[in-house]
Amino acid sequence: MKIRYFDHAATTPVGENVLKAMLPYFCEEYGNASSIYSIGRQSRKAIIEARKKVAQAIGAKPHEIYFTSCGSESDNLAIKGVSYANKNKGKHIITSKIEHPAVLNTCKTLEQQGFEVTYLNVDEDGFVDLQELVNSIKPTTILITIMFANNEIGTIEPIEEIGKIAHKKGIVFHTDCVQAIGNVRLNVNELNIDLLSMSAHKFYGPKGIGALYIREGIEVEKIQDGGHQERDKRAGTENVAEIVGLGEAIDEIYKNYDGYNKKLTDLRDYYIQKVQAKIPTCKLNGDRTKRLPGNANISFPNVNAQELLIELDKKGICASAGSACSSGSGNGSHVLTAIGLPISLANGSLRTTFGKENTMEDVDFLVNSLVEIIPKLQK
Ligand SMILES: *Cc1c(COP(=O)(O)O)cnc(C)c1O
Repeated sequence: MKIRYFDHAATTPVGENVLKAMLPYFCEEYGNASSIYSIGRQSRKAIIEARKKVAQAIGAKPHEIYFTSCGSESDNLAIKGVSYANKNKGKHIITSKIEHPAVLNTCKTLEQQGFEVTYLNVDEDGFVDLQELVNSIKPTTILITIMFANNEIGTIEPIEEIGKIAHKKGIVFHTDCVQAIGNVRLNVNELNIDLLSMSAHKFYGPKGIGALYIREGIEVEKIQDGGHQERDKRAGTENVAEIVGLGEAIDEIYKNYDGYNKKLTDLRDYYIQKVQAKIPTCKLNGDRTKRLPGNANISFPNVNAQELLIELDKKGICASAGSACSSGSGNGSHVLTAIGLPISLANGSLRTTFGKENTMEDVDFLVNSLVEIIPKLQK
């Protein structure tokens, strides 16, 4: 059976050129990047090149990029690292109710350690309220962490304005950019971002490698002890092959960014229009236009999304209910709850996230499958 994959927000396949770029660093160029001899130097050079590519893609300087093991680790290092480094200035952190668990649970841990966290509300489209943000700032606020784009409903937050508000008050601004990198062209300076998390497997790189941008001058305390790798911010022998993969993946996307972005936007809009025309009782979650180009999250009333996913799987369709990280946990989506979606709609939410191997014919197949399955499940 042909697999039609519409779950690129959960993960993406590794690109062919990305794999090709990585392969020499397993069996041939296996030197430790800290070693003096030539294969060690070769690894070191490869990391320098990858760091340049990442920096270039987001308008940063290479020495502001730190490699980590994943997006979750980048979020942990950013939020804990800034909090620990600034704890003598204050212990108040501001975030939102719709963050990824990598941010929310890091904030919960910090609360247990004596930090105070404000969780901002969002409106029915998932936008944080800038006035509520301003009102939440205290003299003790040391960090604002708001995601660039939501992984479930795709809404893109007003990042530039949030950064402006933070900087006016001398507060550090971190953004979990894991969903946006590869999908949205951005520049950390134009958007007033101090720290930014990314993860390679969300943009056709390998799983288990991430990066954190830390603006020059921002203090971050390391959270893992060991060697002095990554300028003493992240101990552990560098994962050279995967670092090369991350660099290659981000470079490929940003070289063809406009075409890729348009392709995703076209697929998304075609899908949304077709579903709304054929199943008029459905509801689109998240903002219609200020959303990730490849994301559509649509609720079908009185449908159990788990049952829907099983029926779609029988047709070779891969999609998601809420987010992959919370499905299986049994709890409803904290994001859909935060936007105030009634249970009858939240339970029937289907997230489809499009990618470069998808075609319009794939989308037709998806829509036709929904038209066939949804009425059966509603009975
Ligand atoms: C996937 C994701 C993460 C976690 O990244 P990993 O590399 O899987 O740890 C964090 N935040 C968001 C918004 C994500 O979509």
